[in-house]
Amino acid sequence: DGLSTPTAASIDTLAQHFPLCMHNLHSTLRANSHLKHFGRLQYTLFLKGIGLSLDECIMFWRRSFKLMADDKFNKEYKYNIRHAYGDVGGDANRRGRGYTPYSCQKLLTEPLPGPGQAHGCPYRTYTTDNLIALLQRTGVNDRDTLKSVREDVGRQRYHIACNRVFEWTHKREIKKVKDDGSWGAAELDTILHPNTYFKRSWLLKH
Ligand code: SF4
Repeated sequence: DGLSTPTAASIDTLAQHFPLCMHNLHSTLRANSHLKHFGRLQYTLFLKGIGLSLDECIMFWRRSFKLMADDKFNKEYKYNIRHAYGDVGGDANRRGRGYTPYSCQKLLTEPLPGPGQAHGCPYRTYTTDNLIALLQRTGVNDRDTLKSVREDVGRQRYHIACNRVFEWTHKREIKKVKDDGSWGAAELDTILHPNTYFKRSWLLKH
C-alpha cells in the first residue's frame, strides 16, 4: 500500500496528506522545479520519515529538478540527500541513520526563511492574510476554522492552528473512528510532528 512503500512517483498523490509546511515545499518545488537548501533538507527528512527509501528519494529529486543536468545534480545535490539518510559523511553515531525528521518545535523555533525560501512552518512564517489565502488554495474554506486560525496565529499558537485545520479537513473520518470506538484520545492527541500529521491523515483516509 501507499504508506508502507511510498515511491518517487507516489509523492504527488500522497501530498494530499501533508501538513501545510510540507505541502508548501512540495508545491514550491513543483512550481519552480527547484527548492533552496533548507527547504530541501526539511523536505528530504520528512520524506525519509514517511518511509521513502534513499534510492526513491534520489529519484524524486532528480525528476523534480527538471531543468538540471545530471552532472550538476550528481555533483551538487545527490550527496546532501545521501547525507540526510546517513549513507555518507556525518559523525560515527549518525552513520547509517542520518538525521531525524524535524518536529514542529524545531520548525517553529529556527530562524525565519529569507526571500525565495519556503522552509519552516507557514503558520509562523507567512503573514496572516497570505496564510489564509494559502489555506484557501488547499481547500480550507470553512469560515469558523479560518477565523480560529487567525486568532491562534495572533496568539502565536501556530501548532494549534495547524491541528485545527487537521480536525476540519478530517472531521468526517474523526467522527467515524470516535463513534465506532476504534480510536481513542491517544490516537487523536495534539499533533506535534509533521510526520505524525501525515501518518494520521493517511490512516484516517484509508
Ligand atoms: Fe508543519 Fe507542525 Fe507547522 Fe503544522 S504546526 S505546518 S506540522 S511545522
